[in-house]
Amino acid sequence: MTVADCLFCRIVAGEIPATVVAETERTLAFRDIAPKAPTHVLVIPKEHYADVASLATDDPALAGEVLGTVADVATAEGLAGEGFRVIFNTGASVGQTVFHAHAHVLGGVEMDGDLTG
Ligand code: 5GP
Ligand code: ZN
Repeated sequence: MTVADCLFCRIVAGEIPATVVAETERTLAFRDIAPKAPTHVLVIPKEHYADVASLATDDPALAGEVLGTVADVATAEGLAGEGFRVIFNTGASVGQTVFHAHAHVLGGVEMDGDLTG
């Protein structure tokens, strides 16, 4: 499903440019436009799901594919040994602003374990 006014569906459709770093038949990884770390890549399913919860409920295999692409991106970015953080903001109250499921892959800088900020 494509949602016409969804930013990430429009990136999948090639209507909005993005710096793509990895792609599979069903997933796409591209650099965040406002990176919060030296590596900040977004990994999405090409199909539209509003958030990771609906993705995992409706298509768990695709949710797994998203995680596989996360792992591939981390390796390609040199983070597999160093460590990295994966975040799925789920809901406006925790900062989700684009309502197309996406994993943030963050790395290349020291982070502490405080996830409440
Ligand atoms: P959220 O806050 O929904 O978890 O994350 C949305 C992310 O999308 C933000 O980190 C934001 O910087 C990124 N973003 C917003 N618009 C664009 C865009 O047009 N292109 C890219 N590559 N990233 C975007
Ligand atoms: Zn979408």
